[in-house]
Amino acid sequence: MLAFESTYADLPARFYTAMQATAVADPSWLAVNDGLAQDLGTSGADIRAHLEVFAGNTPPAGAQPLAQVYGGHQFGHWSGQLGDGRALLLGEVIDTQGNRRDVQLKGAGPTPYSRSGDGRSALGPVVREFLVSEAMAALGVPTTRALCAVRTGQQVLRQSGWEPGGILTRVAASHIRVGTFQWLASQGDREGVAALVDYTLNRHAPDREGPLGLLAHAMHAQAHLIAEWMGLGFIHGVMNTDNMTLSGETIDYGPCAFMEGYTPGQVFSSIDQMGRYAYSNQPNIALWNLAQLATALLPLWDDQEAGIAEMTDALEQFHTAYAAAWESKLAAKIGLERAHFGLGVELLELMAAERADFTNTFRALASDTAHTLFTDTAPYAAWHAKWQAHAPDHTLIARTNPAVIPRNHRIQEAITACDAGDDAPFHALWDVLRDPFAETDANAPYRQHATPEEAVTRTFC
Ligand code: AMP
Ligand code: MG
Ligand code: MG
Repeated sequence: MLAFESTYADLPARFYTAMQATAVADPSWLAVNDGLAQDLGTSGADIRAHLEVFAGNTPPAGAQPLAQVYGGHQFGHWSGQLGDGRALLLGEVIDTQGNRRDVQLKGAGPTPYSRSGDGRSALGPVVREFLVSEAMAALGVPTTRALCAVRTGQQVLRQSGWEPGGILTRVAASHIRVGTFQWLASQGDREGVAALVDYTLNRHAPDREGPLGLLAHAMHAQAHLIAEWMGLGFIHGVMNTDNMTLSGETIDYGPCAFMEGYTPGQVFSSIDQMGRYAYSNQPNIALWNLAQLATALLPLWDDQEAGIAEMTDALEQFHTAYAAAWESKLAAKIGLERAHFGLGVELLELMAAERADFTNTFRALASDTAHTLFTDTAPYAAWHAKWQAHAPDHTLIARTNPAVIPRNHRIQEAITACDAGDDAPFHALWDVLRDPFAETDANAPYRQHATPEEAVTRTFC
């Protein structure tokens, strides 16, 4: 079994509540991730032998489970205390690469941070997080992972009525969020902020020092991460400060989605009325969140003016860091070097005009068949002539642009089937998402843009 450690439990007691999960009635397996189990130094068979642990019915031997406290800005408004309202950190394990990874149950029952929530997760969101986080990992994007998922055998009440419950076991480089710093700072807990800075640097950026070093680390990690999202047409949906990690991993797959027809202002989340977390706004929001991190770190400066000046300078570098990451990514998507990224911008404009499929258009450049995706052929032909003149690298295109992404209607199909007790569509989808850069007969149906009847344009937490 996993050999749990708990360095987070060594932090001051006010950082968390030590507690156990609440047992469920009749757990059964939805999925076990054999590859990830092996990366964590165990096996899928060993995970399968411990259903009661991953259902929260039995605490794992040697673990000191705890719920973490954090705060955050939700949709730009300070929410005060949030925290693990339906999650429980079992502990940390050292993986086969020597990296410390958190293992967390999501949906394991109420905690002191549950507010009015039930501490549970419906099966649908478990299925979505499992599929999308594993797809992101296969796509090379920093992300939390899904080790396993269980059905609880209990129903949970959601807006749409009673739904089957689920528990996801999430693996993360850590669960330290911008909101973790914000909560401590909001309590006037200067020592707490200082302790968390040290802990976070030690875990994620041992070669950097102090709050300015931490801010620089977070800024570079986010610049890279957001460029990866933008390069895939991924829309996170709830970039609240409690959903931004210091590790630079994507976390909290709620109302997220990959867009199909390219639409810069695209929003899927049913609760994002103003488009705050729209596709094209994600880099701005990342910087906004980093500014909240900087604010939380400010108490560590004796001279506040100096702190503001130094952190403002650091934050101003986000634009440069993000531009470097995004321009390189966009250029690679069209098989060229960064200097030619402007051609990528021109292509995006043509795609926006026709809402061309984001994934399929870029992928078709590898076989030079993208013209078939445009109705108005003349503008594309003009672009194509300019592009060809630079002798694009077609293998780079095929390595950079996936053939398969988890399309929203496919995720919905898997969720609907799982809710009805049929796991086959989930497993079939997970299977093709493991190898997203291959074009095979098996994954051909998963490469199709949704028909108008299939399209799912709204996602829910
Ligand atoms: P999220 O929107 O998933 O980032 O969650 C925001 C906050 O609400 C976090 O503090 C969660 O722990 C909490 N939360 C979400 N769903 C539930 C639930 N069903 N029960 C208790 N707390 C929840
Ligand atoms: Mg969250
Ligand atoms: Mg969530």
